[in-house]
Amino acid sequence: MMSLVVLTGAGVSAKSGIPTFRGEGGLWRNFKPEELATPGAFRRNPKLVWEWYDWRRQLISKTQPNKAHKLLAQINAVIITQNVDGLHQRAGTEKVIEPHGNIWRVRCTSCGKEYENYDVPLREVPPKCKFCNGLLRPAVVWFGESLPLDALEEAERLAMSCKVFLVVGTLEIVYPARLLPFVAKQHGAKVVEINPESTPISEIADIVIREKAIVGVEKFLQEMLNL
Ligand code: NAD
Ligand code: ZN
Repeated sequence: MMSLVVLTGAGVSAKSGIPTFRGEGGLWRNFKPEELATPGAFRRNPKLVWEWYDWRRQLISKTQPNKAHKLLAQINAVIITQNVDGLHQRAGTEKVIEPHGNIWRVRCTSCGKEYENYDVPLREVPPKCKFCNGLLRPAVVWFGESLPLDALEEAERLAMSCKVFLVVGTLEIVYPARLLPFVAKQHGAKVVEINPESTPISEIADIVIREKAIVGVEKFLQEMLNL
């Protein structure tokens, strides 16, 4: 299999039952994600923000990877994902770069330690650090925060060296990860997009597959044979 790098977003997990932020079912108590996934919202009301994350963790804990996750795992591609749900790992992908973090990890706002937490539901809301009893936050990147540099650098190296850069089910790629498809293209890769709707990536894509993730990945795997 030629070198392939995959960038995925919320669309790849939609069929597993995890709503995209802009899709139906994404709302919780009439709050928009943009009102909750921010440092300001957490400062004002950590309990409210954690109640939302607790709800999302419960929802995600009941889901399974779908065929798109599984097919991508079978071809041994490196996956860069904007998702925080951990479904690529559960489908068996070994190398997953998560620039947005992971909903099953927490970070202490006092001592800074980061570790896994799989409590569903949470034992207390907001949860406290097991080392220092400080206030924990989800180890995910919020609106207005920057993406971790090490993950970005690794993603950029991958984009520069791959032959095919596949983007699946993502609309708003957060800057500077948004540049990755362009970097890949500049370095000679073919850019392929799978999304039922048009996105800014569609304009630069060499191949656009206007399908949902599962059918799209199936079609892509057939196309790959001809690339
Ligand atoms: P988004 O909600 O902005 O966009 C979703 C994209 O998926 C859209 O382009 C839509 O056309 C496409 N889509 C919808 N259903 C699809 C399907 N069945 N198959 C393929 N594509 C489909 O999501 P985003 O751009 O990925 O990211 C926004 C932010 O939301 C990110 O920061 C991400 O961390 C967060 N988020 C994560 C999850 C998750 O972890 N599963 C879920 C929702 C949001
Ligand atoms: Zn601590």
